[in-house]
Amino acid sequence: MAEDLNLDWANLSFGYRPTDYNVRCTYKNGKWGEIEISSEETITLHIAATALHYGQEAFEGLKAYRCKDGHIRIFRPEENAARLQSTCRGILMPELPTEKFVEMVKKAVLLNERFVPPYESGATLYVRPVLFGTSAQVGVHPASEYLFIIFVTPVGPYFKGGFATNKYVIARDHDRSAPLGTGIYKVGGNYAASLAANKWAHDLGYACEFYLDAKEKKYIDECGAANFFGIKNNTYVTPLSTSILPSITNKSLMQLAEDLGLKVERRPIPEEELETFEEAGACGTAAVISPIAEIDDPEIGKKYVISKDGKPGPVSEKLYKKLIAIQYGEEADIHNWVTIVK
Ligand SMILES: *Cc1c(COP(=O)(O)O)cnc(C)c1O
Repeated sequence: MAEDLNLDWANLSFGYRPTDYNVRCTYKNGKWGEIEISSEETITLHIAATALHYGQEAFEGLKAYRCKDGHIRIFRPEENAARLQSTCRGILMPELPTEKFVEMVKKAVLLNERFVPPYESGATLYVRPVLFGTSAQVGVHPASEYLFIIFVTPVGPYFKGGFATNKYVIARDHDRSAPLGTGIYKVGGNYAASLAANKWAHDLGYACEFYLDAKEKKYIDECGAANFFGIKNNTYVTPLSTSILPSITNKSLMQLAEDLGLKVERRPIPEEELETFEEAGACGTAAVISPIAEIDDPEIGKKYVISKDGKPGPVSEKLYKKLIAIQYGEEADIHNWVTIVK
């Protein structure tokens, strides 16, 4: 049981902490092999592997929740499998079948069950699938061999002091991804491209950097490594863009917004429209919703204050609570989003 470990679950950071096992699967001679269980935290990798030189690498992220009713649940793993397959098509890696992906997620969680934090702590088990080219290549070509690994690590609750807002800063000097580039794929290269902007934003005292579209620098793109949504006139508005990573949290929130009777709009959002939102948030697996207090654009001397009192808005809070309740099995799972692992 989780209690044996005696970890300070509620105060865990979002860092790597070793667990007992990871699960692996190798692609070789044109096919995926058997699922293997490993207690080794390292791999031996060829010095000419395509992952190292040409960024042939992709990852996913989801969480396992220990619930009040004693079950352990995971949220929409088939969506992560489908997104990984889309990424694979994007950077020419072999697609891992959905059934294999989901089976491996369940295995990775169950094998490390003692690391799934207790319900009361608010902490979760973060599940990190990663897939990359392992065979040697010097010319720019896809690898012929790949390794897919899922490891898990317990992480603390995102909001330690309760659901709260943050300030963001528009990074006009940086682009995370190009309009027809890899922004729609969950590849490590997008994160490498964001490190400098992220550091710049943190050094200025902001929670995170905020991106405009790379082509026109006119429309809202992403909120660091999270999708953006705004709320106004009983409408949930989220950007439609070819350089945004399709967030499973955002997709779920759009459905819940509709269920709650809101209108949902997916369309380009010009920067000036920020002025008009009653509420706004960044969404992703890590926080579900991270409400936005203010977005600054120092280069053109503009400030968009979204939350006048610095508190999260009522619609964001309602959506947040509803999604969490589904993830924890406390609300009817009418869309069939949840898989019980145990
Ligand atoms: C992973 C990710 C998200 C969030 O996706 P979720 O499926 O909701 O966790 C958003 N933006 C970027 C760039 C990401 O990499």
